[in-house]
Amino acid sequence: MANTTWHRMPDRGGGAVGVGEMGEVNVNTIYVPKGKAKEYGDYALNIYTGCPHRCYYCFAPNVLHRDRETFHADVRPRKGIVEATRKRLEQGDVTDKLIHLCFTCDPYPTGHDSTPTREIIKLLKERGNHVQILTKNPADASRDFDLMDRNDWFGVTLTGATVKQEPGSTNQKKWLSRITAARHFGIKTWVSFEPVINAEWVLSCIAMHGEIFDKIKIGKLNYWLSEINWSEFGTKAEALCKERGFDYYIKDGLRAEMMHGGR
Ligand code: SF4
Repeated sequence: MANTTWHRMPDRGGGAVGVGEMGEVNVNTIYVPKGKAKEYGDYALNIYTGCPHRCYYCFAPNVLHRDRETFHADVRPRKGIVEATRKRLEQGDVTDKLIHLCFTCDPYPTGHDSTPTREIIKLLKERGNHVQILTKNPADASRDFDLMDRNDWFGVTLTGATVKQEPGSTNQKKWLSRITAARHFGIKTWVSFEPVINAEWVLSCIAMHGEIFDKIKIGKLNYWLSEINWSEFGTKAEALCKERGFDYYIKDGLRAEMMHGGR
């Protein structure tokens, strides 16, 4: 597969995210994602105003209508997020739900205090809900494994990007041990190969490590130009998952490319 080129496509928004421009909490603290975000889960909650991981392809500043540099540099818990979550849960209608953490930020921003994430997981679990973590900082996330059980999902994003392309992210080679640790706690594990930046790397990762994930999700790079042949990549990835008997999901955008044979 050819290398990815870094040319930005036009911005596109991402539906309700339950956050105002300055990070204030509104009534949609726990919200139902719309559009492409729906593929992440039925419910979501965003804890921080920004994310320090600086992935070049990050869509969150566009969704939040925030300046990209401010989004990466000004990372705080959303004002009153823990208390607002508590009050939202007291309404009693959000229970036995799987709640995705997080859509517009990482629940464990590297170099920042992630205590609010722990408090929110506690609150959600106390009300009988389940969490679906997605992070690029599994080392910090493992602190909260004691709160989670077999109804929860712990996941990492793996893209095959270089350090330059995800400069704030932690060393991916060390992540797999955290996935194994989550499994020891009885927590279900998943991986989001989205957006795929290095197709060969991702195929190799599926082949070598796929068995440590209870669910594999695969999605293409959107809104940025790429020289990856998506149809070819998707077909190979799906064949590999089927051959190994993995539980996998091809995201809609990639599935469409596979059906239409597009690049
Ligand atoms: S980890 Fe996610 S939210 Fe953070 S910069 Fe990367 S893509 Fe954006």
